[in-house]
Amino acid sequence: MAMPVAEIVTAVSNKEEYQEKLFNIPFTPYLREMQKYALENDVPIIQSEGLSFLLAMISIIRPKRILEIGAAIGYSSSFMALNSDAIIDTIERNSKMIEECKKNHKAQGLENRINLIEGDALKTFDYVKDNKYDLIFIDAAKAQYTRFFELYSPLLNDRGLILSDNLYFHDMLFEPVKEQGLKGLCRKINRYNNWLMDNKEYETHIFRIGDGIGVSVRRNK
Ligand code: SAH
Ligand code: MG
Repeated sequence: MAMPVAEIVTAVSNKEEYQEKLFNIPFTPYLREMQKYALENDVPIIQSEGLSFLLAMISIIRPKRILEIGAAIGYSSSFMALNSDAIIDTIERNSKMIEECKKNHKAQGLENRINLIEGDALKTFDYVKDNKYDLIFIDAAKAQYTRFFELYSPLLNDRGLILSDNLYFHDMLFEPVKEQGLKGLCRKINRYNNWLMDNKEYETHIFRIGDGIGVSVRRNK
């Protein structure tokens, strides 16, 4: 009599669901809706893996004050506010985003914890110059990252962290890119990554998490 062939079963059947569970992102129904809105309207919110990392960093450093450059609809800032005791300052220049962001913060009762600064982050330094930050999250125009870093890093506390998002830029750095604008962006991100690596004042580690996240800490003098 033929032996029955043993069924081959993988330990995990759905990789996406499994990863999502392990990222352990504390979604609320409202934040799920925001995520859906972002996907449907091409708003470049942080990827779940990156968000998971960001929340882990927040649990470790327990920031009192956070600066975010690039609020968009307020998705990442909502998560940071709901999962810390921090006061958050976040900068956004796009009027449509500003409108959505305000609406979203208000709907979650976060408008007193999150200050939305309306304007170009290269011109809003004066609004925040008297603050000291435990965490600075750079997530706005990729071509300006070096300038954002140079402008705002003096506001970082000694043990503070600067996180930079999208440093692998959808892996486009490694692909032949035809479109001029995109090509320019890839070059600039590459330049920023190298600039971070060569920066004597900060120690940086760039992880292939989400879309690539850089973690920079000031070196001891
Ligand atoms: N941090 C958000 C996503 C930000 S997307 C999240 O994960 O939920 C990037 C945003 O930065 C866009 O909304 C864009 O309008 C804004 N932005 C780009 N350059 C900027 C600048 N120089 N000053 C202010 N905002 C800027
Ligand atoms: Mg991003």
